[in-house]
Amino acid sequence: LPRSEAPRPATTIPVKRQVAGNPGPYTLEGTNTWIVGRNPSVVIDPGPDDAKHLAAVASAAGPTLAILITHHHSDHEEGAAALAAMLGAPIRAWRRAPGRLRLRDGDELAVGGGTLRAVHTPGHTRDHLCFLGEPGRLLFTGDTVLGRGSTVIEPPDGDLSAYLASLERILALEPRVLHPGHGPTVHDAGARLRAYLDHRRERERQVLGLLDDGPASAAALALRIYPRLPAGLGEGATRTTYAHLLKLEHDGVLDRTGRGIRGVFSRSPANKEAAR
Ligand SMILES: [Zn+2]
Repeated sequence: LPRSEAPRPATTIPVKRQVAGNPGPYTLEGTNTWIVGRNPSVVIDPGPDDAKHLAAVASAAGPTLAILITHHHSDHEEGAAALAAMLGAPIRAWRRAPGRLRLRDGDELAVGGGTLRAVHTPGHTRDHLCFLGEPGRLLFTGDTVLGRGSTVIEPPDGDLSAYLASLERILALEPRVLHPGHGPTVHDAGARLRAYLDHRRERERQVLGLLDDGPASAAALALRIYPRLPAGLGEGATRTTYAHLLKLEHDGVLDRTGRGIRGVFSRSPANKEAAR
């Protein structure tokens, strides 16, 4: 047979995507519910508690080993109990909760056509898990990496230092494809992860540069960093900027007056040159 007509070997674990009907500035086209493996499958992130969406997921999933939660935000997990009742499958997550089974870092699930391994990736939230699917080195990234744009890090549950460590960790897994919690599949996984790391490092340099002009709050800095932000994203921009300020304070290069997100940050005189 000519090469193009030869049967293609099954080189990756089976994957189906069902997009929930909750589009928005943070959710992009809507939450991606991923159905991985076949007979039995697992469902990653049931999405919102929306009967039409959950019925479509249940129909696509068939016999289901477990419903996995990447993290506790409602656009990812709200529909879990309803879907568990429909499928007769347990819910598994990092966070302890009644009616759920704990998933730990390194836990592996065998589904039809491959395996999925839980990878603890705190940063977007403390309880965040990614899942590595084999064969094929497919990484299901939840909100750690999105199909477009960058994710919001909101302290105190969000932690930028932990987030950067998690990005380094999943980069070291050498995934081939990223299946995110929102937006399209990413086929240049390594390049996207390196771009995410570069983006945060560049933002950190920008924050330090702006603070050279004088002390500022997270909200004031966010207005200068994101001058043309779409409506509805201002709060998230302020909290993400605050996450950078907390990391830099923790690194010992910033001082602050005032508490919480309204605090005013300045360059520490002792470190002003060293941190440049
Ligand atoms: Zn989230």
